Amino acid sequence: MGQKVLVFAEEKNGKLRNVSFEVLAAAKKIANGGEIASILFGLDSNEYVQALAKHGADKVFVVLDPSLTQYVTDVYKEAFIEVVKQFQPDAILIGHTPIGRDMAPKIAAALKIGLITDNIDLEVIDDKIVFTRPIYAGKAFVKKIAYDSPVFATIRPNNIAMEEADPSRSAEKITLSFSPSQDALRVKVRDVIRKASKGVDLSEAKIVISGGRGVKSKEGFEKLYEVAEILGAAVGASRGACDAEYADYSLQVGQTGKVVTPDLYIALGISGAIQHVAGMSNSKVIVAVNKDPEAPIFQIADYGIVGDLFEVLPILVDELKAL
Ligand code: FAD
Repeated sequence: MGQKVLVFAEEKNGKLRNVSFEVLAAAKKIANGGEIASILFGLDSNEYVQALAKHGADKVFVVLDPSLTQYVTDVYKEAFIEVVKQFQPDAILIGHTPIGRDMAPKIAAALKIGLITDNIDLEVIDDKIVFTRPIYAGKAFVKKIAYDSPVFATIRPNNIAMEEADPSRSAEKITLSFSPSQDALRVKVRDVIRKASKGVDLSEAKIVISGGRGVKSKEGFEKLYEVAEILGAAVGASRGACDAEYADYSLQVGQTGKVVTPDLYIALGISGAIQHVAGMSNSKVIVAVNKDPEAPIFQIADYGIVGDLFEVLPILVDELKAL
């Protein structure tokens, strides 16, 4: 029987985040011909509605109020619950992003339902939705069955592939006005200070070039940016490199940093500690450069170069420039 699935569309820097389309792909696995609706807060954008429709949304709830132009947990929670009441979904999916991680438990508590977080996949078995999530920093996986109604889960970005846009699809746009309670308005965001980040967004990059403690300095990281620019890649870092102040913590990849799944991950001077691997092991192709042939990173690398990264990098730059 068809299921009604509600998903959250997230915007960042004037663009819908890829995770908005990934949760739609996840919703399709559940819907089985049922209805899929996306939620869009604070933005009356036909362009976004069309993009969501092309990736599988049958309906888009556009919720408008000045309080929704900026993320505030309680305001978003209240608006989200309004849409849940209106749409009456069988399942709700939200990206496991900083906003999703903050908002989902509050919504679950308010609706008095459970929440299954940080899933990398899902399947339907005997009419039950079975979610898969990594545990022990990605060393093992656990499967969880959802019994609540509606089923509520967060989906880790970059794991469920978004589907190709279907230009023939369209969606019904439902515009809702909304007034937050006085309680929700207690928190006011006065200013958002964005970290200046160079180039491509790390969490959505197709190519990531990451440096570890082996890069040895901030200046060393500048060389990574040079290669990143040629490749159209994002720069990442190990915690070792962040702790040593060679790179900003916003670049940290791993268990306590960002999870990336690019087509190509280049690890330079990174030992391959389990906590780092937890954030990049699902990359399609992993290339490692390390002067220690016993470095654990070589156990998961598809291609490994045993050598000094300061000798390998200039060769790489020359080769790439010659292409
Ligand atoms: P190191 O382990 O010091 O390795 C440096 C590597 O560079 C070595 O393998 C060395 O052979 C190589 N090298 C040195 N010079 C050169 C050269 N010239 N050319 C080539 N290779 C060279 N770590 C993360 O990355 N992300 C996380 O999210 C994270 N979360 C953590 C959470 C917890 C709770 C804990 C306890 C730890 C966490 N860590 C995390 C830290 C992790 O355990 C490692 O300490 C860290 O990943 C090591 O960083 P590194 O590989 O850059 O440094």
